[in-house]
Amino acid sequence: MAAEPLDLLIVGAGPAGLLSSIIASQLGLSHRVIEARGGLHPEPSAHVLKTHAMEIYRRVGVAEAIHASATPAQLMRYITWCDSVAGLIYGQLDLTGMRGDVPRFNNISPTHSANLPQSLLEPILHARARQLAGGDMVNFGTAFQGFEQTPECVISTVLTQEGSRQIQSRYVIGADGARSAVRRAAGITFEGPRVLANFLAIHIKSDVRPLLTRAPGVLFFVRRQVQEGFFIMHQPVGSQVFMLRFDPTRQPFESFDERRCAAIIEDAMGYEHRFEISSIDQWAMSAQIATEYRRGRVLLVGDAAHRFPPTGGLGLNTGIEDVENLIWKLAAVLRGKAAAALLDTHAVETRPIAVRNTNQSVTNHRRMQEVDAAIGLDQTPAAFSELKQALADNPQHERFAAIQSAVRAQIAHFAFLELEMAAVAEAGAFIPAARPIAYPVPELEGYQPSFQPGNHIPHLWLAPGVSTLDRLAFDRFTLFAPEESAAAWSSVASRLGDDVMSVNVISLPADARSPIASAADFWGGKPYAVLVRPDGRIGWVEPESCHDRFEQLQRAMRAILSPGALTSRPVERILA
Ligand SMILES: Cc1cc2nc3c(=O)[nH]c(=O)nc-3n(C[C@H](O)[C@H](O)[C@H](O)COP(=O)(O)OP(=O)(O)OC[C@H]3O[C@@H](n4cnc5c(N)ncnc54)[C@H](O)[C@@H]3O)c2cc1C
Repeated sequence: MAAEPLDLLIVGAGPAGLLSSIIASQLGLSHRVIEARGGLHPEPSAHVLKTHAMEIYRRVGVAEAIHASATPAQLMRYITWCDSVAGLIYGQLDLTGMRGDVPRFNNISPTHSANLPQSLLEPILHARARQLAGGDMVNFGTAFQGFEQTPECVISTVLTQEGSRQIQSRYVIGADGARSAVRRAAGITFEGPRVLANFLAIHIKSDVRPLLTRAPGVLFFVRRQVQEGFFIMHQPVGSQVFMLRFDPTRQPFESFDERRCAAIIEDAMGYEHRFEISSIDQWAMSAQIATEYRRGRVLLVGDAAHRFPPTGGLGLNTGIEDVENLIWKLAAVLRGKAAAALLDTHAVETRPIAVRNTNQSVTNHRRMQEVDAAIGLDQTPAAFSELKQALADNPQHERFAAIQSAVRAQIAHFAFLELEMAAVAEAGAFIPAARPIAYPVPELEGYQPSFQPGNHIPHLWLAPGVSTLDRLAFDRFTLFAPEESAAAWSSVASRLGDDVMSVNVISLPADARSPIASAADFWGGKPYAVLVRPDGRIGWVEPESCHDRFEQLQRAMRAILSPGALTSRPVERILA
């Protein structure tokens, strides 16, 4: 047993655990990551990295590597509904201009969304974690089993091939996925439906470039009366997966042997396709959220705290936002710069986001039935077979228009700005504005940037290639001050005591801007200082009448870092 406890024990080396390690290293926190598997995740799974996830990845220095390996834009044009990948196409959602490196995103962020399979993302995160730590912080083949808490630390029991041993740490982060042993050991339960549907995941390796010439895209929904599933073309040459909905009570998982799965793939591809099956798994589509995110010194992030349908690609992205929210708070508490109560704001701020994202994912899943109905899948087998023939014979068939209309109605599932950008916190470690806040940009798809506390700081270019987001640091607050008062704010910030985190003052010129608005537009009148937390969330804005800057800033910092009793807004019901 180590004499000096680690600051953090991170359980799980998935996307949430690896990002936790990266930020912990940036903050100089002593930590280890334990991972039950012998190596990183072998299969692609998640692939959609939303704009805000890419903003976080930009902050930790991996965005360029991700963009360099991501799916090229020309291969992401369509979402396709079809009888088979090479067969009859029922309808297509054209995402031109809606995803990736397009003004829609570049106008509101210094980066943009990307598509990269989890099996390629994790090695990038792992390499960065190793680089920052100066060695590998991940202990593979080490499974968390349980813990005991003392007033000062957590004593975790872990199992390796050599037997079990104990690790002491001040805090434990449960980033160990949906079946989290940390969550169970903490006695925290999930609420919400455990099984919405069961899927078989047949992973293959092949070259699908010929298919992508006809319908360039990553997602193909294969719609048949007897076979409902979807292909994710993670790589044109490399990994792809077919997810087949199945009923395990009628078709046991064990009955899907390699021969049967090969036949399913051939059928869903709709032409003679050369492939190799790399694995066959099953998974249950759930919509569940942990009732609590913290039990003393044990905290949950990622799928350990919430799991929901992949419809919308929000799972991994929500976990990344959890980590962004939590690690700086842990560092502040560990360094004596904040009260332990700050850790309760992790759930207050992020749990409602998980509820929203869960419900959105369930809604996306359900709305897909509108396309199925438009295709005519609810008809008798004979009538549907006749209809299919008629559609194949006549590209002008009137049903195509109805299908296309149902397909277009799915757009919020695949491109919706509110879900692309950092979520707005309704309650938490921030102070409501004591001044009017301007909204210079009309709301678009639920997204409306502003200087309102609880929002993320909007992206504005401060210099070529340098965004407001690039000036944030996880170990300090950032005060964006009008040019004329920046020097005065700097001197005020330098007098803050050791009991709070430090504040770095950045001069914000009125003409600093993004393509959609300038700093002056966001001020909307008299310029004022904006205090931004290490995770980018606005914590406080200078009040309309600010007589004593030092007193006001110190009071704001103390209120944010040592929050009193916090209540979340009433938690919405999880859709069942
Ligand atoms: C088939 C499939 C498709 C998906 N598609 C998408 C998608 O398109 N978009 C999206 O956003 N999300 C998708 N997801 C969800 C996404 O993969 C998860 O949300 C994401 O991986 C969660 O990251 P995480 O780090 O929280 O957990 P995980 O990735 O599950 O990582 C947890 C890690 O903890 C380890 N672990 C578990 N128990 C222990 C233990 N006792 N001790 C030590 N280590 C342990 C595991 O081995 C694992 O490596 C998909 C999931 C599945 C199954």
